[in-house]
Amino acid sequence: MAVTSSSTLLLRNLSTVGRIAQSVRANSRIFSTGEMIRALPRIASPRSISSTRAAHNEEAAAKAASDTGAPTIFDKIVAKEIPSDIVYEDENVLAFRDINPQAPVHVLVIPKLRDGLTTLGKAEPRHTEVLGQLLHASKIVAEKEGIVDGFRVVINNGAEGCQSVYHLHLHVLGGRQMKWPPG
Ligand code: AMP
Repeated sequence: MAVTSSSTLLLRNLSTVGRIAQSVRANSRIFSTGEMIRALPRIASPRSISSTRAAHNEEAAAKAASDTGAPTIFDKIVAKEIPSDIVYEDENVLAFRDINPQAPVHVLVIPKLRDGLTTLGKAEPRHTEVLGQLLHASKIVAEKEGIVDGFRVVINNGAEGCQSVYHLHLHVLGGRQMKWPPG
């Protein structure tokens, strides 16, 4: 009995495949090379593939990192021990281009002195002044970069928030249409 049912199913499937093949042949015009190429970006554009890859890399980096309170690469950038492309700097704040930009403008704004701010989640009342300075510096960066009329400021917090460097930083992103909701 079971064999008969399987055979019946197989025959039904074969007939479905046959009908699909017939329909493909009948409508072969829609599978012209040009149309297939035009259809490709909707399936997976190189940009969407690379942004998916970047998202996975960021996630992996975030999972690998942890909030130990140890110095980070940003301390070396503040101390100018390693190079960075500085966009804005004042007494308390440093803004430099992200090494792995996710938009035409992607600048990181950080407090020069971390003072316990490994994450925004560690903020205390004593940090309100520097938090305000970081936001204000983000606006200055947006102005300098010519995106003040449309930009986004992001703070990733902790592993689930996709944070990979434990020195508070604001991502200033712009220069393209932003999407919502974010990934
Ligand atoms: P987050 O994932 O929110 O912790 O962001 C950390 C960001 O730091 C990522 O977007 C990295 O691309 C960026 N980054 C890491 N190292 C450097 C570096 N040496 N110079 C500039 N940006 C960096």
